[in-house]
Amino acid sequence: MYKYNIKMSIENDLHELTDQSEIESYCNNIYKNWIVDVIDDYAIDYSILKKSWNQICEAIKMDPKKIITVSHLPIDTKDPDYINIHTMADVLSSKGYLIRRGHEIRKCPVGGCNKGIISKDLYDMFKPRAGKSLPSEWSPKCQSC
Ligand SMILES: [Zn+2]
Repeated sequence: MYKYNIKMSIENDLHELTDQSEIESYCNNIYKNWIVDVIDDYAIDYSILKKSWNQICEAIKMDPKKIITVSHLPIDTKDPDYINIHTMADVLSSKGYLIRRGHEIRKCPVGGCNKGIISKDLYDMFKPRAGKSLPSEWSPKCQSC
């Protein structure tokens, strides 16, 4: 019962918050250092991923906000933080944020760019299905940077 009360209070609290730094400190208070980074958008090289994010947002009638990368997104439902973390991730997704693991998306390191670049692992996973809509080779920076 206790866990479900926490779940409801996280849902209620987080729904109320619109300010990004308040959202960050709230989440990091629930789970220490949960938010790794906040990325404005995908690099143009990954417009196909941006498109599917847009489609999700259209379906829930929200504008796409930002990509939030997190330190932990448990798969195992027995993980003691599973409910809290997935509740936060669900509420943020419903607000138009995209939640990804910290190692899955990093910022383009070229000065001032900061657009999101997917990891080599994710690239290798998407590439066979995405074909030409992804860059022909993976790079830690945008093709144009
Ligand atoms: Zn770049």
